[in-house]
Amino acid sequence: MPSTRYTTQFLLSALAAEQFPAPTVPEIAFLGRSNVGKSSLLNALVGEKAAKVSQTPGRTRAINFFALLDPRQQSKLIFADLPGYGYAKISKSISAEWPKFIDPYLAERGPLKLCVCLVDSNIPPQPNDGKLVDWLRHAGREFLVVATKTDRLSGNARTRNLLAIKKTFELDEVLPVSAKTGAGIKELWIRIEASSAIEAV
Ligand code: GDP
Repeated sequence: MPSTRYTTQFLLSALAAEQFPAPTVPEIAFLGRSNVGKSSLLNALVGEKAAKVSQTPGRTRAINFFALLDPRQQSKLIFADLPGYGYAKISKSISAEWPKFIDPYLAERGPLKLCVCLVDSNIPPQPNDGKLVDWLRHAGREFLVVATKTDRLSGNARTRNLLAIKKTFELDEVLPVSAKTGAGIKELWIRIEASSAIEAV
């Protein structure tokens, strides 16, 4: 778990770069295909509020920003929940909008310290996930691929699928997580705080 007990405060939903919050504290972005388990993971990381806000109709196409406040109510981190991309009908228009404000966000956002890229551990590596990883790599962004829903797999299948993800996307590491069991959540917090240069105590 995190070094501090954070409370989560919804900041805003942005549909254009002009609406992004003022860059103040380190920011962590969460990316993945629709249904990958992003809301569930955010829920496991910071509580229900973030997940609920991000799934509110009208906000699913936006970048939803959340401040994480320490016990003194000081903002320490921002989580940016990016729109799900992928295969659902609605995502077609999201993909069309991708270059307009997501691309510049990922390319230019100053305080962005880490992109957490979610991939589903239960299915074969998906080309659009690969595209995102390649894009981030070329943009020189720090990213971490997180394999979701690992509780659904037996030990052997998990090992096999994680290896396939690593190989296909040419990664040194993949972090397996389960929002359901909490596996990997602590490790993800350690990575988030390390990237943000927040001292774990
Ligand atoms: P999102 O569209 O990426 O926000 O995905 P959701 O968080 O809404 O999850 C999509 C579906 O996957 C839901 O039916 C969840 O219950 C399920 N799911 C998400 N995370 C897990 C997990 O860690 N384990 C299991 N077994 N199911 C999960």
